[in-house]
Amino acid sequence: KAKEQGKNRYVLYDRDMDKAFSERMTIEKLLHTAMDNNEFEVYYQPQFDLQSQKITGLEALLRWKSSELGNVSPIKFIKVAEDTHLIIPLGEWVLNQACAFVKELHEKGLQGLTVSVNISTIQILQSGFTRKIIDIINSHKLNPECLELEITETILIESFTTVFRKLNKLKKMGIRIALDDFGKGYSSLNYLKQLPISTLKIDKSFIDSVSIDEEGRTITRHIITLGKSLGMTIIAEGVEFNEQLEYLKKYHCDRIQGYLFSKPLPGEDVKKLLIV
Ligand code: C2E
Ligand code: MG
Ligand code: MG
Ligand code: MG
Repeated sequence: KAKEQGKNRYVLYDRDMDKAFSERMTIEKLLHTAMDNNEFEVYYQPQFDLQSQKITGLEALLRWKSSELGNVSPIKFIKVAEDTHLIIPLGEWVLNQACAFVKELHEKGLQGLTVSVNISTIQILQSGFTRKIIDIINSHKLNPECLELEITETILIESFTTVFRKLNKLKKMGIRIALDDFGKGYSSLNYLKQLPISTLKIDKSFIDSVSIDEEGRTITRHIITLGKSLGMTIIAEGVEFNEQLEYLKKYHCDRIQGYLFSKPLPGEDVKKLLIV
């Protein structure tokens, strides 16, 4: 009996593996033509500043509307784009879209609005990365202080020294660096000390726990204090409930980003939201 069950389990597992593998292959195949087919779009999620009660920034989030697969989550395709290095042209495309979009909003009177773009390890480790960023900023005549690059701790674990050098160069140019998903991985407080980080984004898992347990609340409150005392701007990610908002306000979190305020939106909808 046990043997039989074991065998069934094995078959099931095998089938799941198969399915995951073939899905991955399909994504990989379709990704290669997706750019030429104009299947990508950049959405923007507003970041709401609690003090000024205004939208002060936008996070660029990539969307893929595949003609064959429909909407594919970035959680599924970013990894494939990284493994195939397609993330290099794709990431550059996102940067150009985001810079052009925020520049257009500046010209419509929203000076100072920032745009944050997620950057993969593959991109940052590519030689000439800093030059590329500088070229993009110049070609859009964008104030460098209005561009923020979001990196995660995985980038740091892999090649600290190289990343450290590149980030310092970018920071000197006025570009902002955000540490994304803070607290989610193997966060090292050492990174906070050594890196030129302007913004700390508290991972959604902590924000979730604010409405669940005292430990979550305590950690969240202390991350805010720690980041702020190091001169960083603190953003709470994935704020969904009023209760979380009230807690974050009470402990002087700077900005919130989440469905409570707004989902990521197509550029046209963001314009409607911002330009009255
Ligand atoms: P991330 O950078 O941490 O982005 C935040 C994610 O949380 C986004 O998912 C956003 O839609 C989602 N989110 C925001 N507020 C809420 C909320 O209140 N509740 C819930 N449940 N979710 C919320 P999305 O757009 O699916 O992106 C997932 C991840 O994919 C991003 O996480 C980022 O790591 C990656 N990604 C997205 N676009 C790009 C890109 O252009 N380049 C790179 N390298 N990665 C990207
Ligand atoms: Mg991000
Ligand atoms: Mg995040
Ligand atoms: Mg995340």
